[in-house]
Amino acid sequence: MDWKEKLSLDREHIWHPYTSLIDPLPVYPVESASGVRIRLATGQELIDGMSSWWAMIHGYNHPELNQALARQSEKTSHVMFGGLTHEPAIDLARELIRITPEGLDKVFFCDSGSVSVEVALKMALQYWQARGDASRKQFLSLRCGYHGDTFGAMSVCDPHNGMHSLYSGFLPRNIFAPAPESTFDQECSPLELQAVEEIMAEHHKELAAFILEPIVQGAGGMRMYSPDYLARVRELCRKYHVLLIADEIATGFGRTGRLFACEHAGITPDIICLGKALTGGYMSMAATLCTTQVAETICRGDPGVFMHGPTFMANPLACSVALASIRLLQESGWQEKTARIQEQMQKELMPGNKLPGVRRARVLGAIGVLELHRQVPVGDIQKIFVQDGVWIRPFMNLIYIMPPYIIESGDLSTLTSAMLKAAKHIGS
Ligand SMILES: *Cc1c(COP(=O)(O)O)cnc(C)c1O
Repeated sequence: MDWKEKLSLDREHIWHPYTSLIDPLPVYPVESASGVRIRLATGQELIDGMSSWWAMIHGYNHPELNQALARQSEKTSHVMFGGLTHEPAIDLARELIRITPEGLDKVFFCDSGSVSVEVALKMALQYWQARGDASRKQFLSLRCGYHGDTFGAMSVCDPHNGMHSLYSGFLPRNIFAPAPESTFDQECSPLELQAVEEIMAEHHKELAAFILEPIVQGAGGMRMYSPDYLARVRELCRKYHVLLIADEIATGFGRTGRLFACEHAGITPDIICLGKALTGGYMSMAATLCTTQVAETICRGDPGVFMHGPTFMANPLACSVALASIRLLQESGWQEKTARIQEQMQKELMPGNKLPGVRRARVLGAIGVLELHRQVPVGDIQKIFVQDGVWIRPFMNLIYIMPPYIIESGDLSTLTSAMLKAAKHIGS
């Protein structure tokens, strides 16, 4: 079978994310990937601006991660986690407890980001059940939020961007606060805070938890907001006895310039969700950590256990590669790397604010965004990007990059130039 036949099989039979099988957009066949370069079957190389959706922070085909995976595969690729345990899980748990905000001491390993959000929601529900307060069955979340594609996760995604109307009747109904307006370098405005407090004052007796993406709202709009806002939300949650769930699936592991975005506000949530870059992008794995107080309350209630247990829980291959990725991150000088990426993107993307088609350019850590006035025609623009030798995948009215931290400045400039060129091309 040659590539032409394989691609026609792909078109005919395989669903890609959010796509049609009647009228699919083209997909590009990847032959291999290494460092920051994705090599297509045509032999063409693309500089990767996406880190395969926030995940590939060390770049592709990293020798140390490859080795961790190979070594573990010779020992145990998988073993059930019910009644059994293993060194990779124990070492990874210890490391996650050490590096996440103080107080998150109990670890639940799961399969993907969405599942880790389901687990967090279930923890919050079981927590209140155990406290004899079963009326707390709803969640508060932010407009423009994104938390995943499974049902519980969808129910806390932005109700318009998200898929609420499509599944209404089945989807749980939750409560939404306005998206934060104060930007990263601003204090939060009293009005903004008042809006959140009013909701909490009215609904706190029905609220199990407030779930949010700290500092950067990702797939719901690539919005960066005030650390002060986050700190004050933490205080409000305490005041109204509402648990705080921080979804750090996208922001975790250095992406925003801090190891975890919660650190910008110096807060510890009651529950945190990790995923995406957890394994350095090698495989699907996620984790939900909570405080001892949350865990012990759950376990003192009925049925005395936390009710979740995926088949591939704490998969040893995934744990080993995650452990290797975290070690690599710490040895790699990620802070200097993300600071340098931030500085260069600020220099190169901020002039985009002068383009008529650009509503706002923004940069935080290793995330660079051009928000346009118009929807991006993804298929057409993707084609131009590929011709220009870059892999950038826009959505809605957003052209954005979050490259692997190892990217060199020449490659980063190629990415930012391609972004500006596309913004000009799309126009106002
Ligand atoms: C990607 C993402 C998820 C979902 O993770 P999956 O691994 O795709 O299920 C949840 N929350 C946030 C903030 C994300 O960016």
